[in-house]
Formats: sequence, structure tokens, C-alpha cells
Amino acid sequence: MNRIPLIAANWKMHKTASEAAEAAQKLAGMCRTIQDVEVMIAPSFLSIPAVSRVLTEEKSAIALAAQNLYFEDQGAFTGEVSGPMIKDAGARYVLIGHSERRQFFGDTDSWTNQKIQAAICSGLAPVLCVGETEAQRNEDQTFFILDKQISDGVKGLGSDSLKDLVVAYEPIWAIGTDNTANNQQIREVHMFLRSLLEKTFSKEFSQRTRILYGGSVKPGNIKDLMEIEDVDGALVGGASLDPETFIQIIGFKE
Ligand code: PGA
Repeated sequence: MNRIPLIAANWKMHKTASEAAEAAQKLAGMCRTIQDVEVMIAPSFLSIPAVSRVLTEEKSAIALAAQNLYFEDQGAFTGEVSGPMIKDAGARYVLIGHSERRQFFGDTDSWTNQKIQAAICSGLAPVLCVGETEAQRNEDQTFFILDKQISDGVKGLGSDSLKDLVVAYEPIWAIGTDNTANNQQIREVHMFLRSLLEKTFSKEFSQRTRILYGGSVKPGNIKDLMEIEDVDGALVGGASLDPETFIQIIGFKE
């Protein structure tokens, strides 16, 4: 099955709204000639409206994402942002269960499950992030952890409601460390994740679901990464902040 590669930027807690809008404008211009690759950017919540305006004005195909959401639509949840708010601000995707959410803000597998349900109800495509720590890898727990993160994350949901699901494999020890997982490690995890999706849903579902790799993706390693079987794109942190660098990753085919 032909899966369109997805190259996604996670801007984390970087850029003010005006900086994000400026970067989005540059990127929109540079992406005009890009074909057969879907591009996504995830700025901070506060920058979503400004970036959305820029992308609309530029008639850009770049998709907008939030980095998180809360699973209730509204209510007394001080400091939180809901799916309907994100959708209304112009986003199409939402990252769920990023390792920094799990590490620093206590997101659990049960929360990711509720957040995925909330995203779907709001018409947002969930990008479920999974990945093991270095200690878990050293203890041969990688596949057990990934199985739990995926199984708990999609619990109770059918393949129809998950039709826009994207999975991002981000080994925690490779994030922001310049320490990319090697091709063999990536190949075996992506193969494992695809077979898990097949076992949980169906072959057809597993064949159409995109599985991204994330963790120190750079212009210098994207080409090799994209040649690995079952890698359908990348979730890029640090190297996505500068549009000039990010466009080199997006243009990996050139
Ligand atoms: P990195 O971050 O590219 O800076 O390693 C990836 C991510 O956390 O999504």
C-alpha cells in the first residue's frame, strides 16, 4: 500500500507566536515545490492561530498540529486546552503521549487513551508517540513497553475511528541527544509496531497506518532513515526549528 510520507516538526516550547508565524511563512514558501510528502508543524498552543492564518493566506498544504490536548471538551480544568478549541484554531493533528509529556507532566497510557478518544471526537488526527527509555532497552523491555503503550493507547477504539491514526516511535534515549537509533534497531521496532497493528486490527489497517521515527533526525540522516522498511516519515524536534534546516529534511528525496 502506498503510504504518503509525513515529515513533522515538533517545535516544543520554542518560538513566540510572531516567530512561529515567520517560520511558517518561510516554510510555506519553500514547500511549494515539494511533492508526495505531507508536511506538518506543531507549534505551541499560543502560536496555532497565527500559524493557521499564515498557512491559509499562503494557500499552503502544510498541516497544523497541537502538541497535546486535554480530554474534556470544556470545564473547570485550569490551564488546559481541549480538542474543540484546537480544531477551531485550525489544527488537523495532535501529538499524544510525547515522551516529554510522560516524563515531566505525568501523562500515563490511560491518559493517552482518553486523549486519543477526545482527539477523534474533535475531528483531530491523533499522532500517538511511543518509545522506551535507555534503561528499558538495556533490560530488554523495549517490545513489552511498546506493546503496552500501543495497546493501552488504542484500547476500546475500532479501526474505523482510528483511520487517521499516526504512530511515532521515539526512543527516549535518542531524543535531543544526537544519538539516533541505528537502522537495525529502527527496522525491528517498526516491523514490530506494524505487526502489532495487524494483530490488533487488521492487515489492511496496519498497511495504511503511518509509523514515523523520531529522535535526533537531521538533514544528514533522513535519507538513510527513509530507506528503512516500515519508516513512513519523521517527527523532528531540534532540527525543525530553523526552516532552512527543516526543508532539507522535507526534501529528502532530492
Ligand atoms: P529531536 O526531538 O529531533 O530534537 O531529537 C524529537 C522529538 O522529541 O519529537
